Amino acid sequence: MEIIGIIIWLIFCIFIGAIAKNKGRSGIGFFFLSLFLTPLIGLIAVLVVKSNVDEIEARKISSGAFKKCPYCAEIIKREAKVCRYCGKELPSSSSSKKLSDYNDWVQKQKFKDVSTK
Ligand SMILES: [Zn+2]
Repeated sequence: MEIIGIIIWLIFCIFIGAIAKNKGRSGIGFFFLSLFLTPLIGLIAVLVVKSNVDEIEARKISSGAFKKCPYCAEIIKREAKVCRYCGKELPSSSSSKKLSDYNDWVQKQKFKDVSTK
């Protein structure tokens, strides 16, 4: 019976660590906090602690799926053409800009070939 109790205890600690990580906090820190001070205290601590917004934003941007709106600085999806927070139209992402620049360059080269013949 004791082993089951320890396993449940550990599951709670991992669960609390996962919540902490989602809030941009140290998952391992909260895991050990609940491990030593009971998961109940860990749970209260993780619910009381404020989300680390900067950390969450940095994580989203580094994942590549999100970018920061240049007008209102909110985190939006990378493919977004209009910001869902401020409604402003966004400049196309750097990768598609490069592609259109390349296409322009190709068109110019073709034109050059035609004109020199
Ligand atoms: Zn915006």
